Amino acid sequence: MTNPLYDTLFGKHLGETTPFLQLADGSEVSHDAFLQLVAQYANGLKKMGVVPGVRVAVQIEKSPQGLAVYAACVQAGLVFLPLNIAYTASEVSYFIENSGARVILCDAARATTLTSIAKTTNAKLETLNADGSGSFAALAETMPTTFQTVDRDQDDLAAFLYTSGTTGRSKGAMLTQRNLLSNAEVLVKEWRFGSDDVLLHALPIFHTHGLFVATNIMLLAGGKMIFLPGFQIDDMIGLMPQATALMGVPTFYTRLLNDARFTQDLTRHMRLFVSGSAPLLAETHTQFERRTGHRILERYGMTETNMNTSNPYDGERRAGTVGFPLPGVEVRITDRDSGAVLPQGEIGEIEVRGPNVFKGYWQMPEKTAEELRQNGFFITGDLGHTDEDGYIHIVGRNKDMIISGGFNIYPKEIELLLDDAPGVLESAVIGVPHPDFGETVVGILVAERGAELDVESIKADISQTLSRFKHPKQLIILPELPRNTMGKVQKNVLRDAYKDLFKPV
Ligand code: AMP
Repeated sequence: MTNPLYDTLFGKHLGETTPFLQLADGSEVSHDAFLQLVAQYANGLKKMGVVPGVRVAVQIEKSPQGLAVYAACVQAGLVFLPLNIAYTASEVSYFIENSGARVILCDAARATTLTSIAKTTNAKLETLNADGSGSFAALAETMPTTFQTVDRDQDDLAAFLYTSGTTGRSKGAMLTQRNLLSNAEVLVKEWRFGSDDVLLHALPIFHTHGLFVATNIMLLAGGKMIFLPGFQIDDMIGLMPQATALMGVPTFYTRLLNDARFTQDLTRHMRLFVSGSAPLLAETHTQFERRTGHRILERYGMTETNMNTSNPYDGERRAGTVGFPLPGVEVRITDRDSGAVLPQGEIGEIEVRGPNVFKGYWQMPEKTAEELRQNGFFITGDLGHTDEDGYIHIVGRNKDMIISGGFNIYPKEIELLLDDAPGVLESAVIGVPHPDFGETVVGILVAERGAELDVESIKADISQTLSRFKHPKQLIILPELPRNTMGKVQKNVLRDAYKDLFKPV
């Protein structure tokens, strides 16, 4: 094989006239048509003077064109660098400078602001719009529909994905061909994907979930994707009867459950619902099963590692857990200070090792050395434990842990109690500075629709179960929790908003 990722995912579909993508308007893109576009893009990028190994930064709306740029980078041996479409010009300029990208592809609407960034960083900028127009599209149109695939080996870089940065500055995670391919191969088997599958794809394609997990699996399995620009409830309801699988973040599932049209009958054709990128409330899992008869399969992964663990396809999908390590992936729970492996049941750092684990952070050798051990284990920054049956439970991010009066407090323990309180839809527990304790606990509550929360009685109830140092000093009601585009609760935003609550006056 000359280019394992291209050959295994894309090249094998050359000449196939079966549909690869179905768009929101019902039109379809065959594998062959897609690959011809990919070759034109690869030729276009070559024409722009880029050579293998160069980073190509892409900030365009979700579209088949956006996906074709990913494939073209793989075919041409370039490093694909997708950027969240919500990033502002100043954020983008950090990514361009930090990555040293030589090419920027963006939609026309962003071109004016990004042109000055391109100038200062000496990158070439072309436009590519979600409707297929733009200066790069015009260049590509004149190019041949075949391209001599560039040789790569499994350790060559395929992509840079910047971490979402909810706990600090974004870092460029360097992902190799092997990282992506090994994970896709494992997941196709674990989740039983085949050529008859139709995936309802409503996730963004600048993040590992929608880009690599969803797309690479479907390419490998040879199935079709209903490729939607985003999560629109009417599209989801309208198209679900044509699909067999959905990959979503937890908010997809809560939004579906909030719609009366989402019924068992609507999901009759569905084989699998996968959830990840943020914790799925056990309550959502239960409600979903009650409504549809399906048990959501929750898995755990991250930008740096692709997917690490999954609940079983056959066997019990245990609510509130992320299941077992995937084949080929090792997971261990270690002591935060000593690094020693902890006995089953104890909470510690989740570490993972396997072919899925990235090569390191771009131009951050110290950060890489801090998080990626010499022996190959990556310290994920997530805290968790395993139960007696081996299921892994995540209790939160390391950086979200609260240290009050010298005691460690895991927010999840308190959140689970708050979530169960009458009228509470969901909660987030954070630590805020406190003059006596260093930090103290604050709980943020969101009420169920129409419910009035009795904060004092909730406080009194949970105090019965929790040791004194874990009692929230204050409970605050908000209409909703701040979330990023992947549905993750932004605790940094909450911490910032309430940092002065106990400041001495
Ligand atoms: P990202 O790199 O943006 O994909 O974020 C990865 C982080 O999301 C992980 O380190 C976890 O903190 C969180 N995460 C992903 N999947 C799950 C899950 N199923 N349950 C809880 N947290 C999750």
